[in-house]
Amino acid sequence: MNKVSINNIHMNYHSLKTWTKALNNISFDVKEGEFLTIVGPSGCGKSTLLNIIAGLLKPSFGEIHVDNEKLSSVSTKMGYMFQRDQLFEWLTVWDNIVLGLKIQHKSIKDYKENLDTLLKDYGLWDFKSHYPDELSGGMRQKVALIRTLALNPEVLLLDEPFSALDYQTRLNISDEIFKIIKKEGKTAIMVTHDISEAIAMSNRIIVLSKRPAEIRKIFDIQFANNHDSPLKCREEPEFRVYFNDIWKELNT
Ligand code: ADP
Ligand code: MG
Repeated sequence: MNKVSINNIHMNYHSLKTWTKALNNISFDVKEGEFLTIVGPSGCGKSTLLNIIAGLLKPSFGEIHVDNEKLSSVSTKMGYMFQRDQLFEWLTVWDNIVLGLKIQHKSIKDYKENLDTLLKDYGLWDFKSHYPDELSGGMRQKVALIRTLALNPEVLLLDEPFSALDYQTRLNISDEIFKIIKKEGKTAIMVTHDISEAIAMSNRIIVLSKRPAEIRKIFDIQFANNHDSPLKCREEPEFRVYFNDIWKELNT
């Protein structure tokens, strides 16, 4: 079943003097439970597309449907995780996590049990009274994910979620975050410029052209040795093949 449908999206940015075409006729569907990744050159319009899917930005033309309903503004079905973790330094881990609930005037009591479980399952329980600057980059990113999961979204939108992390942390935390997303049964749409990360984590990869972004190609990613760890996928023989194909698609 299609969870999200992106239909004929065009986007122009206007300023007083000029206008910029960022997206040209983008259409694709995302299936329920799928992990879909969008790759493309820097500045091609990836974040623009994700902001449109999130309902934060209105496209110049085209429509987004979630569960077959037209998206007209920000939907509680969508959770957004940004490039930088955007944690508030003056709030504890716990207060950061419940911030979204407070903003939406939800009763924290109703969510406490679920949040406690998330913190325990994902190794942050002992840190819930700590402040963000006492945590490693990887832990901060996990706090950001739990904050996004707190509102129980059905679709997670991730904009270059690991790009601020060093390589080693990035490998480990992307593996962990992938497992969390799968365990929680979420549909995910991620943007990255890291081809390896995309192959390791995704069911499908959409390759965008230079700006104005158009879809160049869609890759189905499948490994004969079917396992649920992005880290292990990197060791499979198919990995290189996908990498070369996508590299060519991005660089010709
Ligand atoms: P990416 O995420 O792929 O790096 P973006 O979606 O951020 O690309 O940007 C695509 C293009 O749109 C860029 O040329 C950028 O300068 C332009 N752009 C992005 N946001 C705005 C805005 N608010 N106003 C005008 N132009 C913008
Ligand atoms: Mg971007």
